[in-house]
Amino acid sequence: MAINTEKYKSILAELNSKATLVAVSKTKPIADIMELYDLGQRDFGENYVQEMVDKETALPKDIRWHFIGHLQSNKIKFIAPFVHLIHGVDSLGLLKEISKQGAKINKAIDCLLQVHIAREETKFGFDEPGLSQLFDTVVTGLHDYRNVSINGLMGMASFSDDKDLVRSEFVYLKSLFDSAAQSSFSAKASPKAETFNFHLSILSMGMSGDYSIALEEGSNMVRIGSLIFGERDIC
Ligand SMILES: *Cc1c(COP(=O)(O)O)cnc(C)c1O
Repeated sequence: MAINTEKYKSILAELNSKATLVAVSKTKPIADIMELYDLGQRDFGENYVQEMVDKETALPKDIRWHFIGHLQSNKIKFIAPFVHLIHGVDSLGLLKEISKQGAKINKAIDCLLQVHIAREETKFGFDEPGLSQLFDTVVTGLHDYRNVSINGLMGMASFSDDKDLVRSEFVYLKSLFDSAAQSSFSAKASPKAETFNFHLSILSMGMSGDYSIALEEGSNMVRIGSLIFGERDIC
């Protein structure tokens, strides 16, 4: 199946270099990814470890691979050597494991913390107190987290036609992002934090159905799959 080149170009125009496009290629074949690669796309997102590893092996080495799925601790080691950014870190335990795997290969692995902003209970992520607590824990336990870099936040809005609801969820995530970035989380205000890898610059929000709203509300990284690659049979 061919990619939608027109749509891809119109999305890029809409982003206008203000946000990074992560092309979500999960379940899609190598040929489709190469087609997009040949148009200049370099950031690709995958949800499944084995699939991402297979594709990384088969595809050009200058692709930046984003892991956007739910990551299991025992699988971190397979993607650690090459992953560009892990979007969905949703527990302190996972962050610690990522750091452990990073230490083994002498690398600080870039991560985003996933925040639970949707109404649905099935979506993963931290709530506001959990996020604040994580910042405190990480700073006071520096040693355990030396090989991760916390680069920002990621969230998924409710899967809903209610645009006001979706917008309000993005607004909320943006406000958390701003307060985290501006050191209002207590841990971030501690001098110790300066020695640690907090680089809160990425706000990953927006997918095929809601990316325009996300952009209006301050997203600087969108994850778009089906609009470019076509609908998937499975999620
Ligand atoms: C699949 C997926 C996307 C892309 O979804 P589309 O609706 O196809 O754009 C974005 N983010 C995450 C976390 C996903 O799992």
